[in-house]
Amino acid sequence: MTRTDLWPAIEPLLARVERPARYIDREWGALHDGEAAYRACLIYPDTYEIGQANQALAILYGVLNAIPGVAAERAYLPWMDMSAAMRETGVPLFSLESCGAVRDFDLVGITIPYELTYSNILETLDLAGVPLRAVDRSESDPLVVGGGPSVFNPEPVAAFFDAILIGEGEEAVGEIVSAHRAAKAASASRAETLHALAAVPGVYVPSLYETVRDAKGAYAGTQPLPDTAARPVVEKRVVADFDAAPVAIAGIVPFMDVVHDRYGLEVLRGCTRGCRICQAGMVYRHVRERTPDHILRDVVAGLACTGYDEVSLTSLSTTDHSQLEEVLRRLQRRLEGTGVSVSLPSLRVDAFGVEMARLVSAGGKKSGLTFAPEAGTQRMRDVINKNVTEEDLLGSVQRAFESGWRRVKLYFMIGLPTETDEDIQGIGELVHKVFRTAREATPPAQRGGLKVAVSVSTFVPKAQTPFQWEPQISFDEIGRRQQVLRDSMPHKGVDLHWHDAEISFLEGVMARGGREVADVVEAAWRGGAVFDAWTEQFRLQRWLGAFAETGVDAESIANRERLQSEPLPWAHISAGVAPGYLWRERERAFAGKTTPDCSFAGCTGCDVCDDLEVKIVLAGDSRG
Ligand code: SF4
Repeated sequence: MTRTDLWPAIEPLLARVERPARYIDREWGALHDGEAAYRACLIYPDTYEIGQANQALAILYGVLNAIPGVAAERAYLPWMDMSAAMRETGVPLFSLESCGAVRDFDLVGITIPYELTYSNILETLDLAGVPLRAVDRSESDPLVVGGGPSVFNPEPVAAFFDAILIGEGEEAVGEIVSAHRAAKAASASRAETLHALAAVPGVYVPSLYETVRDAKGAYAGTQPLPDTAARPVVEKRVVADFDAAPVAIAGIVPFMDVVHDRYGLEVLRGCTRGCRICQAGMVYRHVRERTPDHILRDVVAGLACTGYDEVSLTSLSTTDHSQLEEVLRRLQRRLEGTGVSVSLPSLRVDAFGVEMARLVSAGGKKSGLTFAPEAGTQRMRDVINKNVTEEDLLGSVQRAFESGWRRVKLYFMIGLPTETDEDIQGIGELVHKVFRTAREATPPAQRGGLKVAVSVSTFVPKAQTPFQWEPQISFDEIGRRQQVLRDSMPHKGVDLHWHDAEISFLEGVMARGGREVADVVEAAWRGGAVFDAWTEQFRLQRWLGAFAETGVDAESIANRERLQSEPLPWAHISAGVAPGYLWRERERAFAGKTTPDCSFAGCTGCDVCDDLEVKIVLAGDSRG
């Protein structure tokens, strides 16, 4: 295999582009092994400053580099000025560590973070000079493997990957590399390699599956081709002993500002609160917590390696960690006098959440607090199983403002299943009450600085959740409901922010589309779509053009209710949660019944623990 050092061709381009630090290597913590026999390039399909913060990629980087004979490098998607310069001068996508052409690596691992990066995946492959579709790749092309949060309905991008890992990467990445190395050692063909990969649990090889249609031509399922190792249902891989799982201690310290520019440590994985709108909560089940001893050890080691002065304890819901109070008190003692601060990215809408925020900001600056009640009425919160009350929220706001906070941000959604105009008006009324409570808890002289920010998005039903069968509301209806909300909002002291309805619509199509959507993604990318998640780059027109060109009916994907009997395009991918459980949760939602958190209230029957032979692991006995 040819190895190229592209630096002499890259360097002259740097003076022509913004933020050249995006494209240079030798950051503190980067690993270099020029001699490795097997090379993997891990790519985050967005700019350096977004991708560099991705903890999953950092963990995989460490895991792969620890395997003898294997070197992992990184690449990110160049911003448009750089990609134009690269195309003009014939420079292909390159890795940071060795300035090697991505297409020369043995394996190219691309993160699939969320729906709006799908066009970026094609841009990445094209810049790398790797054929876009797996079917067009030759023996000399690298193996393109996907993985990440958005794989639980992989179909819209399945055609672009040779293999997709379903579930938690650190559990399976070594097995994928080992299968590939064995295939190379045996001089296996590309087809033979793909068969070998399909035998690795959790690996989905799209080309080994076919779409089945019924007599009327309607979609009837996706099934493995005969005589292959492909499984009828690919089950996610999961780390059972999370406390012993690798963490990215020696994080890479960037030369430039990046998002989340701090040392991050994942303190728990999974969530069993059971919000029916939340895909992450369903697909990352069960809950596994790291013990306080290990958290302390890893934070101290991580800070020593990186020199950061801030550590973030991350997870889907960090304040759910059963020993968080102990962790924070011990961290405070350990970090006293060092100038290192601790941050918690997500808070519970209750007294415990505020208390924990108070612990981490003791004596320091109190930036804003963020709460996500999601809905304005108790009826609606019960439908989505949010399990928080108005009293929880108002009590938290009161405590926060009495403790010196002056800003609060609230997240809500409109377009939730069963929502009525009263539920939407309920959001306005709740915001009124929050504002009043905050005002009363603030000394009169400081009331001028009080801020309530409200962010409202449109609900997008996602695969593998209890609402996977529900229609997303139409454009016109989004506009009407936004007006109802606007009319009910207090006009003073509230900063109202909307999530773009057009983007939600596209997200809805990508979230539940089937294999046919790959044609749309390709047509939109050919029409200029890239960096769609960057609001200023997003053009709905490009996507509407792509739907028209490919004949794919976007509205029937996003806005149509599915029947229970209807085969779903992601049914051959399993997060371990039984479809029957999702359906029962849907029925409980419509009956206004809530379901408790199984980490504390006993098993509620989602089947993950039995199916994947794992169990919930808590560091303590109770929460808060
Ligand atoms: S199987 Fe039971 S205990 Fe395990 S995650 Fe599901 S509901 Fe919770």
